[in-house]
Amino acid sequence: MLSLKNIHKSFGGHQVLRGIDLEVSKGEMICLIGASGSGKSTLLRAVNLLDPVDDGEIWFDGADIAEPGLDPQPVRQRIGLVFQSYNLFPHMSAAENVMLAPRRVKGLSRAAQRGRVEELFERFGLGHRIDHYPDQLSGGQQQRVAIIRALAMQPDILLFDEITSALDPELVAEVLDVLRQLRAEGMTMILATHEMGFARELADKVCFLDSGRILEEGTPAQMFDAPAEERTRQFLSQVL
Ligand code: ADP
Ligand code: MG
Repeated sequence: MLSLKNIHKSFGGHQVLRGIDLEVSKGEMICLIGASGSGKSTLLRAVNLLDPVDDGEIWFDGADIAEPGLDPQPVRQRIGLVFQSYNLFPHMSAAENVMLAPRRVKGLSRAAQRGRVEELFERFGLGHRIDHYPDQLSGGQQQRVAIIRALAMQPDILLFDEITSALDPELVAEVLDVLRQLRAEGMTMILATHEMGFARELADKVCFLDSGRILEEGTPAQMFDAPAEERTRQFLSQVL
């Protein structure tokens, strides 16, 4: 579904991604783990075409989307990105936040979207909050609205960048439940995450990033129970 080949990215003279290769199959959940600064966010932003890469290929649906000059807009509709800070517009209700991009980008009216959007809110336990404003919602609820907003574009792949990091601990579970549900529904996902328990439970593949490289990858059992690399062991001993 997605194939990254030898991705390089520098900021100034600083090499942040140094030859990333990654294969993602349909329906897989890939977890990126690694210390702060190892390049997880940069990698997700590169796949979403928010920052152009310096070198390498990103194959998606038969095309190399890393080609310079390619229009990023159609790709971003199909590869969604959800951030740690959910960035809902405060003056718009949850439903309006969700309907904004499909309205602007796909020309779908509110009326045309309402039924489907209600269904999405119901599916993720927020049916009773659909017309509430962000400041009437908990952090966990706002993050779930942000996920629904990404889903409303009907993406093929969703990228999640540490989406539970800003949440109070008691709100993390409800957001992870949404990911669990998406996983069961067959959504293809790449997550940068510090939730090791969650990665162990649900990832098809865990990739350990170290200074802009995937130093080691494997199943959760391989990565958490028998990491091959000393650096991976060190990292895990700090976070587990
Ligand atoms: P992670 O998400 O794993 O914490 P990041 O991808 O955010 O890592 O960052 C990797 C490195 O790239 C860090 O050293 C960070 O300072 C640097 N970096 C990220 N984005 C930029 C940017 N826009 N300009 C300059 N340096 C950046
Ligand atoms: Mg990051």
